[in-house]
Amino acid sequence: MKAAVLYEPRKLVIEEVENPQAKDGEILIKVLYALTCGTDLKTYERGHTMIKYPMIIGHEYVGEVIENRSKNEKIKKGDIVVGANSAPCFNCYYCKKENYSLCEKLNESLLGFTKPGCFAEYMVIPQRISEINLFKLNDDDYKRYASLEPLACVVHGWKYLNVKDEDYVLIIGSGPIGILHALMAKLYTKNVYLLGKHKERLSLINELGINTFDYDEYYKNLHEIKNHYYFDVVIEAVGTNEAWNLAFELVRKGGFLLLFGGLGPNSKAIFDATKIHYGEIKILGSFHHDPNSIKKSFELIRDKVIPIDKLITSEVNLEKIEFALNNMAKGWDMKVGIKIA
Ligand SMILES: [Zn+2]
Ligand SMILES: [Zn+2]
Repeated sequence: MKAAVLYEPRKLVIEEVENPQAKDGEILIKVLYALTCGTDLKTYERGHTMIKYPMIIGHEYVGEVIENRSKNEKIKKGDIVVGANSAPCFNCYYCKKENYSLCEKLNESLLGFTKPGCFAEYMVIPQRISEINLFKLNDDDYKRYASLEPLACVVHGWKYLNVKDEDYVLIIGSGPIGILHALMAKLYTKNVYLLGKHKERLSLINELGINTFDYDEYYKNLHEIKNHYYFDVVIEAVGTNEAWNLAFELVRKGGFLLLFGGLGPNSKAIFDATKIHYGEIKILGSFHHDPNSIKKSFELIRDKVIPIDKLITSEVNLEKIEFALNNMAKGWDMKVGIKIA
């Protein structure tokens, strides 16, 4: 079969590899549609601590079941399915504490990192994912389901927030994750604002009914934002120290700050202790997803609660993945659909 194999950063080769086989407990799918993700881009550009080279990358997918050797009896041969990129072990210290997103064994079956991913004609779904994080689709409009994993990460972060009707929510970051947070926020309140870059991107975000501030006019905006708005919730979705600091500055006293975009290893963040203590700021971190957020994400997509297809700005064939990743790097595309079947 044809697959996109990453040998090292910036060495992504489309080549013929042997067709994968499902072992006991696993499910073999024919990949129909996949999506690029910010993590794919980062991994392509600078590698990833968890990846085992050479590796078929890609972890957002929809496929047709070719063979089911798992215990999941709800899934049959010929079904169109969507799944997560990982699943917890339910056995480690963190799983026993129900902190499933912190499972110590997540990386044992992480698609596109430790198990061959979906930028290929066929993919094996590991046992744990087959049993808990895999769903049969309810309709033929399957492309939108491929966003299951990024939406689940966002849903997971929202479980830590307390947003009431009429609250003011600010998202920092105009990438797909920032937009997904803004679309989630709209389910709770009409007062949703996003601070981000790229004029065309911001007008697309406006069309989704979200107010925007242009980051390129940062200082003017910062002054205006600070003087006019009291944000009950601020969500950082960029992953830079600058964005973390800005998010802290813009949250109101008593408000919630969700630091969603991860920083590099050994990074430090310094915040004003007076504002945290006397201002009762609730600082929260959120990582990955858990089976509950995967299930909720599936339901939000299935019921068309979130217009998730708006994030897919172009489509290419498997051969053109590198082209797609480079377009993302330039900010021309948000998520690119990879048509495989
Ligand atoms: Zn992803
Ligand atoms: Zn675990």
